[in-house]
Parts: sequence; structure tokens; C-alpha cells
Amino acid sequence: MRPAAFPFVPPSAIAGTVWPAIPAAPGAALLALQFQLEHTQWWPPERLARHQLAQLQQLLIYARDAVPLYHERFSSAGFDPRADFGYPDFVGIPLLTRADLQRPDNAANSTRVPESHGKVIAAQTSGSSGTPVRFNGTELTQFFWNVFTLREQLWHRRDFAAKYAVIRTLPGDALMPSWSPALDAAVATGPGAFLRIETDVARQIEWLRKQDPDYLLTYASNLGALARHCIEHRIALPRLREVGSIGEVVTPEIRADCRNAWSVKLVDIYSAQEVGYIALQCPEHEHYHVQSENVLVEVLDGEGRPCVPGEVGRVVVTAMHNFATPFIRYDIGDYAEVGAGCPCGRGLPVLNRVMGRRRNMLVLPNGERRWPVTGCREYADPWLLRQFQFVQKSLNDIEVRLATSRPLTAQEEAGLKELILGSLGHPFRLHFVYCERIERSPGGKYEDFKSEIA
Ligand SMILES: [Zn+2]
Repeated sequence: MRPAAFPFVPPSAIAGTVWPAIPAAPGAALLALQFQLEHTQWWPPERLARHQLAQLQQLLIYARDAVPLYHERFSSAGFDPRADFGYPDFVGIPLLTRADLQRPDNAANSTRVPESHGKVIAAQTSGSSGTPVRFNGTELTQFFWNVFTLREQLWHRRDFAAKYAVIRTLPGDALMPSWSPALDAAVATGPGAFLRIETDVARQIEWLRKQDPDYLLTYASNLGALARHCIEHRIALPRLREVGSIGEVVTPEIRADCRNAWSVKLVDIYSAQEVGYIALQCPEHEHYHVQSENVLVEVLDGEGRPCVPGEVGRVVVTAMHNFATPFIRYDIGDYAEVGAGCPCGRGLPVLNRVMGRRRNMLVLPNGERRWPVTGCREYADPWLLRQFQFVQKSLNDIEVRLATSRPLTAQEEAGLKELILGSLGHPFRLHFVYCERIERSPGGKYEDFKSEIA
């Protein structure tokens, strides 16, 4: 059965009225979009595609006129988005790369932005994957960010009166009267508690015990670390109802750790600073639904052809409402597995799994690439093996960085080596490096596996 679309009463802006509410303009706009999304999610794929194409045409016409990079590209290809525009024309547009966005002449930025899109807002990626990408958004793209933040909450039927905790890259720790400024205009929520990701895991747990939240949002690797810490020290977080993850790859092991530690479900969000929400976890399954009202997602194989269900390919995203730096067929660097239709009935396309980035793939000496299984998550004594990170240095050499509770004995090291080699499936030369603690990248992300040759 379809859940009630609006299981809450928005804040009312008119004196003396509380119900039915008459929201102020920003809240009304947010709810008006939400009303449409409640319907469009059930549209059949063909109907979604038709409307996406109409929106894309608007974006492409604009990009051709106002963005030097697209003007150049479309002109040289003789491509006119005004004439008989169709999907085959769209997929003929070359991919937008990070290098295009890093051009010193800023050719990917608009020379003007429609006034109704609001102020231009400069932004950049965290730089966890090398040189940051600088780009512009607008108040409109920010608005869309808020719209999908609300949809995510509604899909997972969160109790807005509850307490929400967030541990991520933040300017500082804080206790706030609400969950997020993104929601304030449309929903009155319970309090929010915010902690910086740099906080040591044991201190995070202390903080969580004190805050006693109903929901927790953080990076997947951090959820795994918190869950294992709670299991090992027999710590309960009795009020916790659900955990959410952002920004990193979620593995089945992390989902299992969360169930074992707290008996809760993990709900993942696939988003990127450049394009906003890409896909949200289905309310009824562990796979994801592409947010087709925000982005058009293509998953392409090595030859640039669309992948079929079950195949893994690179994710190419077009953000449909950013007219300040249009992201048209943007090669975002992630890989995902395409899914078939979802039994929940939503027509939004399915991604079975989001795999990570090319640099997270293992390269075998014969040139084959695969998503590595290191075996470390299955290591029998998680207390001993506090953190690990693999860095592939060459076709045959892998550095294994370990933060352990005490130095491993020769026998333990040999056992671990055997487990790793068995899991990787190739006799690599492993070089163990012991460290006090393995730090996150500047953007707060943590990668189990990085290949320097991928
Ligand atoms: Zn679904």
C-alpha cells in the first residue's frame, strides 16, 4: 500500500492558524514540488523519460547559448538542441570530464544565469579524489537539494518529532533545534545533534550514548566502526531506530554490522556535491532508485553502450536544473550495477549497487580489473584489527596499512596474509605497514582499497 504522502502538518505562516497550515512561500514551494514527486515516482518509465527529455532540451538550448564549452562542442558537431531533439541526439554529446571542469578559462560555466534561478553560488568538491572540481550552483539547485532531502525523509517514513544525530565533515559540533535548515521551511522537526567526523570512535560512542538519538547519519565506514565498537564493548543504543549513510560505498558487511550491533536497518543515500541527489535507497529494498526528476543517469560499459540489468558500468550524470555550470553527461567517476524494475511499483530506474570509483578497483597483472574483496572484514578478531587500508602500488605489490590494538605475532601476521591472498585471489606481494590510526581523506571519506595504478 502506498504510504500517506504528507504524514505531518507543515508550519503555518498566518497568525492564528495552525491547521490546515498555510506555509510561507519557501515552504509552499518545497511542498508543491513534493506533491508532484509523490505522483511522478509512480509514473511508468516511458512517461518519466518523456518529461526528462523536455527538461533536458531546455537545459541544452541554454547551455549552447550561454556556456562557451557547450557552444564550442555543439557547434563543431552541428548539433542543434532546438531542432527535433531526441534521446539519440543526447547520447551523441561527448562526456563532460573533470578536466573540462578544471580548464583555466572556466569554459564550463555560464556567462549568464536566468534571474529566476536566484543567486549564483560557488562550490567545489572536497578534493578527496585529487584536485577539487570548482563549479557554480544557484539558489534553484539548492532548492532541489532541499526537495530531495525531504523526499528521502518521507520515503523512509521517519518520525519528524524524533532526535536526529549527524557525524560528518562539519565546521564544528553543535546541538540545534531542528534536523536541517533544508527542511525547516516545510516541516517542524525534533532536535538535531551534530558531531565532527574527526572525533575518535570511542568518543563518538560516548557522545551518542549521551545524545541518545532516534536516527544517526554518517559515512558508511564510520557506521561499520561504530557498530563493531558497540558489539565488542557490549554497548547498546536503545533508542536508535535506523541509521543512514552518505558519501561512501556501503558493503553487505556494514549492513550486517549495523543489524548485529543495534538491530537497525541501514538506509544509504547516493549523492554528489556537483549534481545533488543521484539515487535513494528504495523504502522496501536495499537497492536504489535514480532520482529522475533531478538527474538523468546513464550507466555505460567500456564501449560507451548502456549496461543492461546485472552489468556494472560507469555512472554518467546529467543534472537537469543547474544552468550556472551545466553538468551534461558528466563522467562522475563512480561505478554502479544496473537493476531491473522494482517490485515496489516505482517507475524510477534501479541501481542494484553503487560500487565506488575506478581507483577503488584492484588491477591484476593481466590487466583485468575487479572490485576487491580483502577478507579483512571477515577477520576473526575485529578488536585486534581496528582499521585497515590497502594501497596497490604496482601490478604485483600491495601495501597493507593496519592499525591494530597490539603488535601482531608472526603467526597472526601469517594467518592474516593467507586470508588476504585467498580473498584477493592472486599471489600479490603484501607489504604490511603498521600505524597508530588511519586518517580519513580531506573530504572526510575513507577508502578501504585504493589502487595507484588504476
Ligand atoms: Zn523500489
